[in-house]
Amino acid sequence: GRTGASELIADALAAVHERFRDLDEGDVATYIPELATADRSLFGVALAGVTGSVYTAGDADVPFTIQSLSKPFVFALALMDRGLAEVLEHVGAEPSGEGFSSIRLDPVTGRPPNPMVNAGAIVTTSLVRGASEEERFARILAVLEAFAGRPLDVDGRVYVSESETGDRNRAIAYLMHSTGALTTDVEATLDTYFRQCSVLVTTRDLAVMSATLANGGVNPVTGEQVVDEVVTEWVLAVMATSGMYDYAGEWLLRAGMPAKSGVSGGLVSVGVGQFGLGLFSPPLDARGNSVRSVAAAHEISRQFHLHLMHRP
Ligand code: GLU
Repeated sequence: GRTGASELIADALAAVHERFRDLDEGDVATYIPELATADRSLFGVALAGVTGSVYTAGDADVPFTIQSLSKPFVFALALMDRGLAEVLEHVGAEPSGEGFSSIRLDPVTGRPPNPMVNAGAIVTTSLVRGASEEERFARILAVLEAFAGRPLDVDGRVYVSESETGDRNRAIAYLMHSTGALTTDVEATLDTYFRQCSVLVTTRDLAVMSATLANGGVNPVTGEQVVDEVVTEWVLAVMATSGMYDYAGEWLLRAGMPAKSGVSGGLVSVGVGQFGLGLFSPPLDARGNSVRSVAAAHEISRQFHLHLMHRP
């Protein structure tokens, strides 16, 4: 039978899913044509504890493209490959206060503001080691799989759609090549970045991936040490300050947790040392965050006193 604690968690997830499933606000992303076909009624909730127990409610096993939720995990890989000092030579750690596709670079250093906006994420991708572009992508896919604890596929249609309509990311990448923030081949790096964004995950995967960050880099389901513990501290710090686009500050104020959202409607949030939370629902608010996911995460944070500044 279930223990009292696990029953409490399962019931809380079911209740939060029930409470927000009819919150039918926001619009699915359309700037990547293939994302516009998403079913706006989908809503998944999942929580993975650092003990390896996974709880879900709603559409937790429906696959969708990872998009920006790849950014913290690829940032972790770049930190493993290069160390903090070298990574910071190419990308900053300051909240931008701007949207995900901001083109602004630091006027002095030419660096993008942080690894959670597109500009910074493209640089992060370029910092992953690989003798060839194929090897670089293979290592990115392998680390996403290690975080998720299972093999993952790429959605070829989303990848093509994203690449064909990626002018803004191209412009940002060429600009960063001109400032020296990006030193690799621009088109090859973008191709890897678009593939990385098109990896398919489920809400359940998001919970296990973020639980790995919560658990000092050890996947609590597989037991694999995916990244070093200190790397998880760096990644979670940047998620806390910059993970929610131009809602990052108010998110930290209200929910008080490291988190990252993405344009396909996913959200990961972390209770350090406790659990990873995965949420998914395609309709987005004006800042690009999933309406149902944000509402549900706020509620879970409030109910379980998860605010980082909450006195233990
Ligand atoms: N693939 C998307 C882009 O670079 C990621 C955006 C996001 O999820 O914020 O445009």
